[in-house]
Amino acid sequence: MRRLVNVTIDAQLGDIYVCGLILGLGIITMKSVFAPAKEAGMQFIPSETLEIDRKMRANKPFYDLDLRPADLRTCDFEDVVIEFSEERARVEAARCIHCPDPAPCMLACPTNNDIPSAMWLIEHGQFSEAANLYHAHSSLPEICGRVCPHEALCQGSCVLNKHQTPVLCGALETFTVDYKRRHEGRAIPLALPTGKRVAIIGAGPAGLGCADQLVQCGHAVTIFESKPAPGGLLVYGIPNFKLPKDVWMEKWQEFVNAGVKFVGNTYIGKDKTIDDLFEEGFDAVFIGVGSEIDAKMEDTPGTDLAGVYEATDFLVRGNVDPSLLPASSYKPLEIGKRVAVIGGGDTASDCLRTALRLGAQEVTCLYRRTEKEMPGGKKDRKFARDEGAKYRFLTQPVKFIAGADGKLAAVECIEMKLGEPDAKGRRKPVPVQDSNFSVACDTAVLALGYWPDPIIGKTTPELQTHDWGLITADKRSGATSRPGVFSGGDCVTGPDLVVTAMVAGRKAASAIHEYLKNK
Ligand SMILES: Cc1cc2nc3c(=O)[nH]c(=O)nc-3n(C[C@H](O)[C@H](O)[C@H](O)COP(=O)(O)OP(=O)(O)OC[C@H]3O[C@@H](n4cnc5c(N)ncnc54)[C@H](O)[C@@H]3O)c2cc1C
Ligand code: SF4
Repeated sequence: MRRLVNVTIDAQLGDIYVCGLILGLGIITMKSVFAPAKEAGMQFIPSETLEIDRKMRANKPFYDLDLRPADLRTCDFEDVVIEFSEERARVEAARCIHCPDPAPCMLACPTNNDIPSAMWLIEHGQFSEAANLYHAHSSLPEICGRVCPHEALCQGSCVLNKHQTPVLCGALETFTVDYKRRHEGRAIPLALPTGKRVAIIGAGPAGLGCADQLVQCGHAVTIFESKPAPGGLLVYGIPNFKLPKDVWMEKWQEFVNAGVKFVGNTYIGKDKTIDDLFEEGFDAVFIGVGSEIDAKMEDTPGTDLAGVYEATDFLVRGNVDPSLLPASSYKPLEIGKRVAVIGGGDTASDCLRTALRLGAQEVTCLYRRTEKEMPGGKKDRKFARDEGAKYRFLTQPVKFIAGADGKLAAVECIEMKLGEPDAKGRRKPVPVQDSNFSVACDTAVLALGYWPDPIIGKTTPELQTHDWGLITADKRSGATSRPGVFSGGDCVTGPDLVVTAMVAGRKAASAIHEYLKNK
């Protein structure tokens, strides 16, 4: 028996109306309340109810994402991925074989997006309804769809990986949410005002996830941010060719329209403290300040030479519109022809690709272990290679050397070999004696990782921190040692992902809501 299901989701009310036309049985109408299904991790359209030929679906041909050619995309900072057409999106979504609930992709997605139900809606051309489903689970679906490491999360867990290529869940999420915004617009659904005020520190994914959920409960939200513009690393980190800034600007407008207040250029811990915020009448505080202090190469001579940059400074000055830059970053970059990037994470890939777009002719990544140990994602590395970046493995810089003009002219390196595994099982790089050599370069970028800024811990009595200033907070609620103060995102976990920070902010919002009910 074939079954056709038309679905209308009214995300404003949180209810879902399912009108089912079951051939042979006549028409039934059913109303299901969305929230409980979501909390239980259940699929809105249970896979078991779909009578589909899974074997046939699993053998459908796969058409990969369309990308702009590498030689063209390095001429600008525009998006690398060509967006799906409606038809292409339907074809791709129809490859989903609808695993039983809970599907592995839902479990692997940190925000537990109901991917199979969204795939069914997209397949049937109900793009806005699919977008509503994403919005119900996530505060930043148009951003996560673009920047999540899909191969390690939703797509990595797709059972099609066994014999085929996984469904392109991320690109489909992006397509549907963009589609809805373009065709209908989107507003954050608001509750009646409660009269409670919450201060959020940091306008990155964690703060935004928290703000999104708090305004939906009726609380008034003010975000205090040290930078001139909101977005955190979405603006001051992730390059435009991965996340176009206009996508973020349109998203930010949703927050503004929902009444979220933004106070920029305000460094909590310097300009005012958390105690000041409580004195100003805020009922609760969420800390989402990230982990943004660049790691240094303290024992390596020459890091203070002109031409040696920290990754954040390099990415911000290379990628961000000057009108959004803090005063300290106004000076334009002068990178020359040869750029060396030191490090093996995603930030290193972003720096390599930014250097190519800024016109460098020779761009090389120097990494002290082998490619196998690199922490960064394969996808970004492939993009970087396709665009012309070179890699030198088992290479450790030991000195930055100045030329006659006093600016950086070369990096002296030493060859490494892999030694015994360390406590985490990772083989330690060990220098090979007398193997020093030089890599000529005009610019070197240090992409070595990030530390938290300890200032909040130091200026907030009773707030427990650990390991260089990370904030101690309960994983489920974000509650800290200080009553009324919650925290989440990179400042709690250390550097992680947009989606995990956003989820932490959402969880904390729900705990803040409970806290405020009893206040
Ligand atoms: C170059 C780069 C590329 C990345 N690429 C990806 C990617 O492709 N995919 C992915 O999922 N993740 C990526 N990440 C990681 C991701 O961006 C972060 O994990 C995520 O942004 C963390 O969110 P957050 O809200 O915790 O912190 P942040 O995004 O860092 O936001 C914290 C905000 O708090 C502000 N702030 C800090 N201290 C104070 C203070 N004392 N007072 C007021 N405001 C303060 C900061 O200015 C910032 O705006 C990348 C990170 C970097 C650095
Ligand atoms: S939020 Fe990230 S992990 Fe979850 S479905 Fe979207 S792209 Fe995949």
